[in-house]
Amino acid sequence: MKFPLRPLYAFSLSLPSLAFSLCAPQTQISKIKKKKQRKRKMENQKPLQNGNKVDDNLLAVDNRDRDGDGSALIFLGTGCSSAVPNAMCLIQPSDPPCHVCFQSLSIPPDRNPNYRCNTSLLIDYCSSNGKHNYVIIDVGKTFREQVLRWFTFHKIPRIDSIILTHEHADAVLGLDDIRAVQPHSPTNDIDPTAIFLTQYAMDSIATKFPYLVQKKLREGQELRRVAQLDWRIIEEQYDRPFFASGLKFVPLPVMHGEDYICLGFLFGEKCKVAYISDVSRFPSNTEYVISKNGAGQLDLLILDCLYKRGSHNVHLCLPQTLEALKRICPKQALLIGMTHEFDHEKDNEFLMEWSEREGIHVQLARDGLRVPIDL
Ligand SMILES: [Zn+2]
Ligand SMILES: [Zn+2]
Repeated sequence: MKFPLRPLYAFSLSLPSLAFSLCAPQTQISKIKKKKQRKRKMENQKPLQNGNKVDDNLLAVDNRDRDGDGSALIFLGTGCSSAVPNAMCLIQPSDPPCHVCFQSLSIPPDRNPNYRCNTSLLIDYCSSNGKHNYVIIDVGKTFREQVLRWFTFHKIPRIDSIILTHEHADAVLGLDDIRAVQPHSPTNDIDPTAIFLTQYAMDSIATKFPYLVQKKLREGQELRRVAQLDWRIIEEQYDRPFFASGLKFVPLPVMHGEDYICLGFLFGEKCKVAYISDVSRFPSNTEYVISKNGAGQLDLLILDCLYKRGSHNVHLCLPQTLEALKRICPKQALLIGMTHEFDHEKDNEFLMEWSEREGIHVQLARDGLRVPIDL
């Protein structure tokens, strides 16, 4: 097997348009022109304020001082549990090699929309007094890498509170590294960061990270610096909202496999956002809370989408994700949790056509995407 000589990224962008222009009759050319115009139109739309569309090209903006800016959502991770690139695609490449994973060998992660860490969302919440609070949903296996790349780029100085969707590895295994974003104290004498989770997740984390949960040293035990966390139990019920750093969150219990309940969250007063990263089925009560035909239309639904084809026992795949979008009918949707099956640019072209047809603007999210939003 030969390794490609040029970045596959460039190849993927040039090939389809070349193939079209070589064989396209006039009608096809005008279709292509219209498609390009449509793409430009969608790209030029302003971010999510007053009902405008999410702009996927926000990474192109600079990261100068954001003092005076309002609230924003920052996608720290948009990939599946094993993350993208998939290690096996690089250490035992297929022939031909996996196009999406091989891009990681030639494009740095901050410029590669097909480089996906574990799903995680940072909510930069600017309250009415202009103070910024930083709430993170999930702290997975790739947390440290996400901090180094995106906290620096987007100038995130700290984490004020943490919310966990569930206790799987891709949502919690970065908790040890929370100490890296806390003030240094050899005696652990700092204000603990509030962390919101279910009792089920708490019990599991007490087994995974006993030293993060332990309150007092045992006799003879040496003091060691560990993350300081203030554990707060939340209910798996949509009628038991809670406040994290001044922002109200409504828990959205969903099935993540028929044997497991995971939480999504609904938040935002001015713009209503739901974040659901791990779901295979929506219980009817939860679906009602987030549906246009139920409690009211969402401005933005951030939703699980593991594979492009078929189905999966514990996650939605694209066919079910799109079906769910049609039922729930948010104004806009951004998809997360993708495997290496998804090629960002190419699949967003397809989703753009779907969006036009169905009247719901949907795109794949990408790591580092920043969406300004009124919350
Ligand atoms: Zn791959
Ligand atoms: Zn999970």
